[in-house]
Amino acid sequence: AKARGRNNFQFYAPSMTGEGVERLLIEAMLRRSIEKNEIYLQYQPQVEIDTGRLIGVEALVRWQNPELGLVPPARFIPLAEDIGFISQLGKWVLAEACRQMVSWQEDGLQVPKLAVNLSVRQFERGSVTLMVDQVLRETGLEPQRLQLEVTESVIMNTGDTLACINDLRAVGVGLAIDDFGTGYSSLAYLKQLPVQTLKIDRSFIKDISSDANDEAITVAIIQLGKSLNLSVIAEGVETAEQAAFLLRHGCNRAQGFYYSQPVGADELLAHWGRRHER
Ligand code: C2E
Ligand code: CA
Ligand code: CA
Ligand code: CA
Repeated sequence: AKARGRNNFQFYAPSMTGEGVERLLIEAMLRRSIEKNEIYLQYQPQVEIDTGRLIGVEALVRWQNPELGLVPPARFIPLAEDIGFISQLGKWVLAEACRQMVSWQEDGLQVPKLAVNLSVRQFERGSVTLMVDQVLRETGLEPQRLQLEVTESVIMNTGDTLACINDLRAVGVGLAIDDFGTGYSSLAYLKQLPVQTLKIDRSFIKDISSDANDEAITVAIIQLGKSLNLSVIAEGVETAEQAAFLLRHGCNRAQGFYYSQPVGADELLAHWGRRHER
C-alpha cells in the first residue's frame, strides 16, 4: 500500500469515511424499517413434484427503502444481526407469516405448511422458544403447521442450540436444516437431532444434469434422509429436468423458480386459491 504513494492514499481515505457514514445511515434506516412499513414478506411455494400440489410456502423477508430501493435479505440480514435488530425483525417476520397463514385459510386457501428462516443470532438471545410460542398463541396457527429453517452452522453452534431445538420441538413446531450439504453436520450428530426435514442446497441442484459430483451429493442426501426417516426437499429447482431427476431418485418435494418465484400473499392466493383447484 505504501508503494502506491500519496495520491492513492488521499483518494482512499475519504472514500473509507464515506463508507463508514453510509453504513451508519443504512443501520439507522434499518432500525426504523418496521415502523415505517418498509418490511414485507414474499412467499415461495413448496410443491409435491409428482402431483404439483402445494405442500407449503417459505416466507422470505423484503426491505423496500425509498432511498436504497429493494435491498436483498443477503445484504440486510447480516446487518440486522450485527446491530442487534434481528430478534425484533425475526419476530415481526414470524408473526406476519403466521397471520397470513390464518388469513389465507379464511379466504379458502389451506396452505399446509409455513417455513420461516431463523438466524443463528436469534438462538443466541436464548428466548427463541418463548417468542415462537407467544406468536403461535397470538395468531392461532397450529404449531405443527410451522417449520423453522435453520442452517447447519446454527445447529453445530453450541450446546445451547441443541437445548433450544429440543424446546422448540416440545412446542410442536417442525425443524428443517436449510442449505443442507454446505456445512459440517456430522452424521452422528444429525441422527440425534430432533429435525424432520433436510433441505438440499441450491448449489447442488443447479448443475445436477451436468456435474457428476453434484448429482452424487444430491442422491446421497436423499438416501441419507430416507435412512434417518427425514423428509427431504430440494431448493432452487429451475428446470423440469431437475425436478424429474429428483423424483427419479426418490425426492418428491421441491421449491424453486420452475414452480414459482417468491410472490406476494395476494398473488399466492390468486394462483393457488379455489380457482386453481378446479
Ligand atoms: P434461503 O433461505 O436459502 O432462501 C432461498 C433463496 O433462494 C431466496 O432468496 C429465494 O428467492 C431464492 N430462490 C428460490 N428459488 C430459486 C431458484 O430456483 N433459483 C435461484 N437462483 N434462486 C432461488 P432471497 O429471498 O434473496 O433470500 C436469501 C437468503 O436470505 C435466504 O436464503 C435466507 O438465508 C435469508 N432470508 C430471507 N428471509 C429471511 C428471514 O425472514 N429471516 C432470516 N433470518 N433470513 C432470511
Ligand atoms: Ca430457507
Ligand atoms: Ca435454503
Ligand atoms: Ca441456499
